[in-house]
Amino acid sequence: MRRAVDHVDPRRLIPRTNDLLALPAVREARTRLNERVIRELVRDIQEQARRGDLPPDQVEPVLLAAIARRTATTLRPVLNATGVIVHTNLGRAPLSAAAVEAVIAASGYVDVELDLADGSRSRRGAGARAALLAACPAAEDALVVNNGAAALVLATTALAAGREVVVSRGELVEIGAGFRLTDLMESTGARLREVGTTNRTHLHDYVGALGPDTGCVLKVHPSNFRVDGFTSAVPLHDLGPLAQANGVSLVADLGSGLLAPDPHLPDEPDVSSALAAGADVVIASGDKLLGGPQAGLLLGRKEVITRLARHPLARAVRADKLALAALEATVAGGTPPVMQALHADAGQLRRRTERLARELGVPVVPHDGRVGGGGAPGFPLPGWALRLPERLARLLRTGDPAVLPRVHDGSCLIDLRCVPAADDDRVLEAVRHALATLDVANAGRVG
Ligand SMILES: *Cc1c(COP(=O)(O)O)cnc(C)c1O
Repeated sequence: MRRAVDHVDPRRLIPRTNDLLALPAVREARTRLNERVIRELVRDIQEQARRGDLPPDQVEPVLLAAIARRTATTLRPVLNATGVIVHTNLGRAPLSAAAVEAVIAASGYVDVELDLADGSRSRRGAGARAALLAACPAAEDALVVNNGAAALVLATTALAAGREVVVSRGELVEIGAGFRLTDLMESTGARLREVGTTNRTHLHDYVGALGPDTGCVLKVHPSNFRVDGFTSAVPLHDLGPLAQANGVSLVADLGSGLLAPDPHLPDEPDVSSALAAGADVVIASGDKLLGGPQAGLLLGRKEVITRLARHPLARAVRADKLALAALEATVAGGTPPVMQALHADAGQLRRRTERLARELGVPVVPHDGRVGGGGAPGFPLPGWALRLPERLARLLRTGDPAVLPRVHDGSCLIDLRCVPAADDDRVLEAVRHALATLDVANAGRVG
């Protein structure tokens, strides 16, 4: 027979749910956290204690720390120290101060579709449309949808469903995470009529393909790769007259979102130039080089934009009020962070990096930043980085604040190009803390 234990089962010392829920700090947390979320935290920590992973007297302090840390969203702000400006895994473009303010203002009730003067319904997103047209006078009209892919789906559906989209084989790109433009367009009921070869497409290839079945001609800027060597493509200004002579629209999908040429990126197409060259509709993303919220911009001839806006699909891909607010403020406000990072002064970047290097006693190495997000592939942005041991990367990512470095060639590199200068000291403290943690771990290993 088993002997009865003569001590109290430690699990009986675990604080009870109701007592934990009644703690003042836990009660106050109900203003910012849902009751269910709070109870989940309580249950998780009690469970740790029941498993023996936590002494019962630690349940309360651990819960209080967990409650203090827990926010209603699990998305965590990240300091981008990769040097990649439009970083898809970090949500692409960080918003400008003007855009952040606009998002907050639009988060309540807002006149997104209302004329306050006479109380009647108005055109949705009129402010964003007006801002885009003011910034891009070559466009007669503009429509904002959910993202670039939605803009492409809307354009090809409205202009070519049941008919053909004529497009060069060299421009059928995969835009990331396995999404192919071909699949996207074929899902709309338009048939793709591929012309030319991977590396070369000529005007006569298009001429041969155009006919009564053509819905539109599409020109895609292959933004995330470059074909070098024996290549040729037909420029927009040659395709314009051809499309016009056949009575079909010429659609240009630029990806990037530059509204006007940028001398820093000579090979990057822009909306104004594409329209001037003869495109009827130009498609661009809001959160790439434009530096705004996720959005798909359609700019071009009034008649074509009206046709797209009236298509039933337009309702399914419409932009939300927060994106419309942020987009308008991005276009009308001060220089967005994406452009600041792109045009960062090299001397200043170096001084900032060297100051941190001195404080930390680590080397500075040359490091090229990149536009990223499928913009200006292979176009380096010369700069500098702190070089740290590779093992620091995980500590930095999981620290507070979270810092995302670039891991390359066995090193952990910290590039300040996309870090606001005001956050330099936060990066400094994060690295200092990570180095100290690493030292402790190393000492433990030796000892
Ligand atoms: C990025 C890109 C898209 C997709 O735009 P999203 O805003 O990501 O939906 C489409 N076409 C091109 C050429 C692109 O570069």
